[in-house]
Amino acid sequence: MAGAVPAVLWLRRDLRLGDHPALLAAGRDGPVLPLFVWDPALQRAAGASRVAFLVRTLRALDEDLRRHGTRLCVRTGRPEQVVPAVARELGAGAVHVSKDFGPYGAGRDRRVAAALGMVPLVPTGSPYAVSPGQVRTGAGEPYRVYSAFARAWRARGWPPPAPSDPAAVRWVELAGEDLPAEPALPEGLRLPAAGERAALDAWRRFRDGALAAYAEDRDRPDLEGTSRLSAHLRWGTVHPRTLLADLELDIGADGRRPGARPGAGRGAPTGAGRGAPPGADRFRAELAWREFYAAVLAAWPASARSSFQPRFANLVWDDDPDHWRAWAEGRTGYPLVDAGMRQLLGEGWMHNRVRMVTASFLVKDLHQDWRRGARHFMAHLVDGDLASNQHGWQWTAGTGTDAAPYHRILNPVTQARRFDPDGTYVRRWVPELRDLPAPAVFEPWRAPAGPPAGYPEPIVDHAAERARALEAYGRVSPGAGNGSQP
Ligand code: FAD
Repeated sequence: MAGAVPAVLWLRRDLRLGDHPALLAAGRDGPVLPLFVWDPALQRAAGASRVAFLVRTLRALDEDLRRHGTRLCVRTGRPEQVVPAVARELGAGAVHVSKDFGPYGAGRDRRVAAALGMVPLVPTGSPYAVSPGQVRTGAGEPYRVYSAFARAWRARGWPPPAPSDPAAVRWVELAGEDLPAEPALPEGLRLPAAGERAALDAWRRFRDGALAAYAEDRDRPDLEGTSRLSAHLRWGTVHPRTLLADLELDIGADGRRPGARPGAGRGAPTGAGRGAPPGADRFRAELAWREFYAAVLAAWPASARSSFQPRFANLVWDDDPDHWRAWAEGRTGYPLVDAGMRQLLGEGWMHNRVRMVTASFLVKDLHQDWRRGARHFMAHLVDGDLASNQHGWQWTAGTGTDAAPYHRILNPVTQARRFDPDGTYVRRWVPELRDLPAPAVFEPWRAPAGPPAGYPEPIVDHAAERARALEAYGRVSPGAGNGSQP
């Protein structure tokens, strides 16, 4: 009987049970063993916060599986050794996965598939609504420009959520190891709640709250205006398609949703649903950035390590260790930069607008290599994702896919005035400035008595460094004109 052959479900960036195409596929073959391989290579670039969040996510997944009478099998080692060994032990007919498109994951999966020999490695679904490589230009090329990609992505549409049902799966167990202990976290670091339920709760809270004003508030670090789902999307405790389908559900004339729950949508063929909640279009556009960067990285894997536009390989970077330390510790004397860098250390997360401002400051004001900054972010972000991070940095550095010119240089003072108008965000993260009202809090060095005790003078002069950056970029990219400042 075909149904009697067990299958391995090797979980990686899909640590959930709902809307799970690979689980659905594995369950069709017979009993399913849920496996997680603790791969030391993957922990190398991650700091304590991301590793701790992963451990908590795995614990939550294990608890969910126990409710269905089984447990997560955890094994440590190189996947090309561990996965075939587990498949042999189980007598598995197949190993099911969600496809990984990252440079490391794709190579690892090729090695595992070879090591599995006759047992197929079966990819079904991916961490994306539309998998990298599916959205192409008329000429069959991957897109290099976000706006064109996003239009084509929307027009193509995506399948409805997969109706995976853990209660309907026949689970099977193998002896595994205990989950690794959580690494010690820096004092005071607060991580978001982990696991599928926490992800869906966070989504519902956002959907029924901040989503309505998302288009206006998403750039405001002083407000809770964004979903904070990035770490969940990173580990797949929620699938973007679940969110997209939910966004399509009509809102009734009374403004209430028809008892919708994530994953229960009718699918999202294309475009905005009639009566979709305000903010839905903008939220979809942000998910499209995630999908765009994943597609770019899959098409040009080297862009994780070097500038997407080769002419910028000739930029000469500074490496002043004092400047680096001041930036990394949030002591540059520019309040918005310092608040952002301290939020990164305090929460393992930073607001998107402030990621742009802090990254711009490192690259354009301190003239340090975007790759060094990207590594630092990857070490501290709970949502650290190679595609979004490296290309977010390159967007800011002006070396990436963006057709917009490199002279986008964010002014940390005007950005603060515009996006943190009362100084609430700055005061939250920089207690030395707690007694300064706006607008003095944006330029404490201009206060009659200078910056408050314990807070530094600016380590560089923004106007002078901006000119220097334009000159340096102009040397390697002749023909570009003078820039305007957002
Ligand atoms: P929301 O505003 O609620 O957006 C919803 C989701 O859309 C996010 O969770 C994310 O998955 C996606 N998204 C939103 N904005 C972007 C964007 N600009 N690029 C790609 N995806 C986006 N995001 C990461 O997930 N991991 C990273 O390592 C990462 N590094 C970044 C580094 C820099 C220098 C910059 C400028 C941006 C980076 N981003 C990264 C993108 C963005 O800052 C975060 O996704 C966002 O702040 C997460 O918060 P949220 O979930 O509340 O976002």
